[in-house]
Amino acid sequence: MLISKKIFGGGVTVPHRKNTAQCETVKMDVPEKVVIPMLQHVGAPCQLVVKKGDIVRVGQVIGISSKYVSAPIHSSVSGTVTNIVQVINSSGMYIDAVEIKADGKQEIHESVKPPVYSNDAELLELIKESGLVGLGGAGFPTHVKLAPQVDKKIDILIVNGAECEPYITADYREIVENSWNIISGINILMDLLKVDNVLIGIEDNKPEAIKVLTDLANTSDKINVVKLKSRYPQGAEKMLIYSLTGRKVPPGKLPLDVGVVVMNVNSVSFVAEYVKTGMPLIKKRVTVDGPAVMNPSNVEVLIGTPLGDVFEFCGGFKTEPYKIIMGGPMMGVAQPSLQNPVLKYTNALLAFDRESGELPKESPCIRCGKCVKACPMNLLPLFLNLNAIHGNIDGLKKYNAMDCIECGSCSYVCPAKRHLVHSIRLGKALLKKESMNKT
Ligand code: SF4
Ligand code: SF4
Repeated sequence: MLISKKIFGGGVTVPHRKNTAQCETVKMDVPEKVVIPMLQHVGAPCQLVVKKGDIVRVGQVIGISSKYVSAPIHSSVSGTVTNIVQVINSSGMYIDAVEIKADGKQEIHESVKPPVYSNDAELLELIKESGLVGLGGAGFPTHVKLAPQVDKKIDILIVNGAECEPYITADYREIVENSWNIISGINILMDLLKVDNVLIGIEDNKPEAIKVLTDLANTSDKINVVKLKSRYPQGAEKMLIYSLTGRKVPPGKLPLDVGVVVMNVNSVSFVAEYVKTGMPLIKKRVTVDGPAVMNPSNVEVLIGTPLGDVFEFCGGFKTEPYKIIMGGPMMGVAQPSLQNPVLKYTNALLAFDRESGELPKESPCIRCGKCVKACPMNLLPLFLNLNAIHGNIDGLKKYNAMDCIECGSCSYVCPAKRHLVHSIRLGKALLKKESMNKT
């Protein structure tokens, strides 16, 4: 085990609240119905390949896309397609979704069988067919990340087990429950990427996870577990790369540009499981917690399960939920309805009561500079906030709004309770709209 002495600039110390760290994953029953949206990743939405009335089985493809940056979508249940509906995603877009009434039998589709491959290209194609996207919350299609780059040499595979957001323990549970799968996935990926240096980053507040993986990694001189200082947002790609390698990803560039591929522990583990069984991505471990939840738990949930069913499985609410967040409290997205489904990249569902969930009232900026100090991307959040509020496109560009990783550190430290990250998200949406209008 190695210890990282490097730490990125900025960031904040947040309370960990990892209440579910010792909660072994429990499998949720098959829900009565699932709603599976045709966009659950960064990139192009999928087109439906089923229609109302069709009988589907577990693992059957129900959505595909011819676009490169996309990932196919599979049915998580066996049953009947009862409707094609529309759901609103986190960017406010309406997305087609397949509603399937489950028959409870969970019959497996005939396409699901251990895959056979004889070269890297075939394995990469299989990973695409598995529907895998980044399971740490980012949702970037994995096959794109792993595709060989003619002009770029990858020499380090980073496995992200940092899990720096409060509450979430989904990655932690993967490490302690399925550590062998992670090592097996790493071996497959080392072969595919042709790298012989793997660094697994884990924050120092998870000693058991560090121990479990260090014991296994000790069998290889190519894999090292690195203990990282707990500091939010340690698990963000750019921060993690710096803490583990000292390499800095320049603005507008990708990890590939500094010779690194970063994969979440759950994604790595999934690759190993998929190669063994051929079962595509149809389920997800979700941490369910928050002050309004009766029984905080880690739950294995079928993708498309309505959020309300998941909370019900955890004993329901002990107080009226005021805000439901998908993801962590720092970077997660508030959900407008308990009918919304669990997605491929859902790693947590948090329910807050009014006291803990209400957005504090804003007061004028006092120019204290705390947000500037906290920003790990060296941005000036107070100016981004001003320009976003006034819809000033030039100002948003001048202060590099697109470099914001939406970590929320600035909002967390602001004594005036300015809704900094909310406004910056809106500012980024304005910039995206403007660039789309130009093309
Ligand atoms: S400006 Fe963006 S990157 Fe910087 S602290 Fe705020 S949310 Fe994080
Ligand atoms: S932390 Fe808040 S009050 Fe201080 S400069 Fe930033 S926006 Fe203004």
